[in-house]
Amino acid sequence: MEELIVQGNDEPMPHPRTMPGWVEVIAGAMFSGKSEELIRRLRRANIARQKVQVFKPEVDSRYSNDHIVSHSEMRHESSKIRTAAELLATIDPDTEVVGIDEGQFFDNALVDVANQLAQRGVRVIIAGLDQDYTGKPWEPMPQLLAIAEYITKTHAICMKCGQPANYSQRIFESEERVAVGAVGMYEARCRRCFVPHADAPTVHSS
Ligand SMILES: [Zn+2]
Repeated sequence: MEELIVQGNDEPMPHPRTMPGWVEVIAGAMFSGKSEELIRRLRRANIARQKVQVFKPEVDSRYSNDHIVSHSEMRHESSKIRTAAELLATIDPDTEVVGIDEGQFFDNALVDVANQLAQRGVRVIIAGLDQDYTGKPWEPMPQLLAIAEYITKTHAICMKCGQPANYSQRIFESEERVAVGAVGMYEARCRRCFVPHADAPTVHSS
């Protein structure tokens, strides 16, 4: 019988991952429960004693610096990072689940990073706004939706008419696309009640 021994390799084998990972995206308007849904999934992974790492972008400092927090005050520990490359460099080799909140604030390299992690066997869960306050798809979320195995589209309730809401209406003056908002600055609106520029400047910062 032949012996299958690899010679000259005294490095430990990497943790074998027999199954590929996958990418899950939770996308929708503000107040649609994206962070809540992300935290729910992360908690179940925690309960199963899976190794979980959670990230949020530097720009999002509302409520907490070291937690992701939903509007309903659910929270989960997280690390703040600036770029997708920094995220990739921060992943431990034995991490099984990676959670990312506010995916729309990341650079486009997040798409490649998500693919790489999934290829390695990691379950990647990304929550984010899929459109900005003018109703434009917000990169990199559209690309993440394209590469994801699983997509959950969350809906808020239109604050004008009560229909399912897919848009975030800005109700204050600002020229910044990245203003991180809360109640009183944005309203969830349905397609009929959403007015892209009625209450907001049309200047687009990029
Ligand atoms: Zn409406």
